[in-house]
Amino acid sequence: MVREPGVQSDDSPEKRPTLDPWHGHYAARAADMIASEVRALFAVASRPEVVSLAGGMPNVSALPLEVVSAMMADLVTRQGAVALQYGSAQGVESLRESVCEVMALEGIAARPDDVVVTCGSQQALDLVAKVFLDPGDTVVTEAPTYVTAISTFAAYQARVAHVPMDGDGVVPEALADAFDRLRAEGRPAKLFYTVPTFQNPAGVTLAAGRRRRVLEVCRRAGVLVLEDNPYGLLRYDGEPVRPLRADAGRDEVVYLGSFSKTFAPGLRVGWALAPSAVRDRLVLAAESAVLSQSPLTQLVVDRYLRTQPWGDQLKVFREMYRERRDAMLRALTEHMPPGTTWTVPEGGFFVWATLPDGLDAKAMLPRATSARVAYVPGTGFFANGDGRAHLRLSFCYPPPDRIAEGVRRLGDVVAQEIAL
Ligand code: PMP
Repeated sequence: MVREPGVQSDDSPEKRPTLDPWHGHYAARAADMIASEVRALFAVASRPEVVSLAGGMPNVSALPLEVVSAMMADLVTRQGAVALQYGSAQGVESLRESVCEVMALEGIAARPDDVVVTCGSQQALDLVAKVFLDPGDTVVTEAPTYVTAISTFAAYQARVAHVPMDGDGVVPEALADAFDRLRAEGRPAKLFYTVPTFQNPAGVTLAAGRRRRVLEVCRRAGVLVLEDNPYGLLRYDGEPVRPLRADAGRDEVVYLGSFSKTFAPGLRVGWALAPSAVRDRLVLAAESAVLSQSPLTQLVVDRYLRTQPWGDQLKVFREMYRERRDAMLRALTEHMPPGTTWTVPEGGFFVWATLPDGLDAKAMLPRATSARVAYVPGTGFFANGDGRAHLRLSFCYPPPDRIAEGVRRLGDVVAQEIAL
C-alpha cells in the first residue's frame, strides 16, 4: 500500500484515525501504547514564564562540560576504531566492571558478566518486559508507580495490579495479599516492579526493616523482583538503605541502574544486573533491538568514572538537589492551604502532594498552567485512573527561588480551588 501524498500520519491513531492510511494495520499492542501525561505536559511546562515542577530532568549544567567534551574528543581521536564501531550487545566490558563498582557503593556484589548495558534503564525495563511478559500477564507495582513503567508494560499488553504504599514504602502484607488474590484469580503475578528508594513519583523509601520481608513475600510467591534504582545515590539525609538486590539471592532480583541522574541522561547509559539465564535472554533481546548500544557513550561514562572525581561530582549533585528539596518543602509549608499534605523525601527528585478533600489535580491543571505553574497530576502514575487527589512535584530542575515562586503560585491555585 502506498501512502497518499499530502496526508499527514498522526502518531496517536485514536485522535485522527481517518487521516492515517495505515489505520487498521497496526498490531494490537500498538493500541495499548499510551501517551505519557508527563510528555503531554512538555510543551506547556517548557514555556519560560511557567515554573515547571512537572519534568524529572536532572540538572546537567552542574557537570564539568569542558571535561566531558575534551574526553569525547580524545576518545574519538585515540580510540575511534572502537568508539565508532559496533560493539557487543552486552556492552563494553570495562564499563561493566565500572558498573559493578558503582553498585558496590550501595552494597551490591556483582560480576561484570551478569551486567547488560542498555540505552538508559528505560531500555532495560523494556527488555525485561519483552522477555517475561505475554499479553494478559500481570505485573504488580506500587501505587503510584513510575509512569513509563506503566506504558512499557501496557505496550506488551500486560496488566498492572497496584499495591498500596504508606510512608515506609510498599506494605508487605498488602503485597502478599495481592499475590494470593491474583493466583486465586488464575493470573499469578509474573513480576513485582518496584522503585524502593526515593520512589518516582511518591518520594518515599521502603524502610530498611521491610526490605527482607518484601523479598520473603516475593520468594514465597515465586515472583521475580524487578528493582529499579536510578536515585539511590542521591540521598540528602537519613541513613543509607541497601537495595533489595544486595540482600537477595542472585536469582531473585533483576536490578536496574542508570547514569542518567548521577551523570548525564543524554548519554543514555543504564544497565540491568540479572540472574545468568535472564541475562542471556536480555542480551539476545538487546541484540535484536539495537545490535549494540553506542560504544562511544559507554566509553565516555567509563572514562569519566575511571579518571574523574565522580564522588565529588555526586556530592555537588546532592548538595544542589538537597537545597532545591528544602526550598520546595519550605515553600509548601508556607503556601499550601490547610488540608494539603505531602511526602518528605530523603533523596531523589520528587514530592508527592495530596490535595484537600474533594479537589481534583487533573481538573485543576489548566488553571495552574494559566497561573504559570506546572505539575504532573497523580492519575498518570496509576494504571487504573486513580490518583486524582494527588500531584507530583519535581524539585530537580528549577533553581530554589523559582521553586519557591512555583509553589507560591500553586498554593494560590489550590486556595482558589477550595473557594470554588
Ligand atoms: N526508572 C525510573 C524510576 C525513572 O524515574 C527513570 C527516569 N525518569 C527511568 C527508570 C529511566 O531512566 P533512564 O532511561 O534515563 O535511565
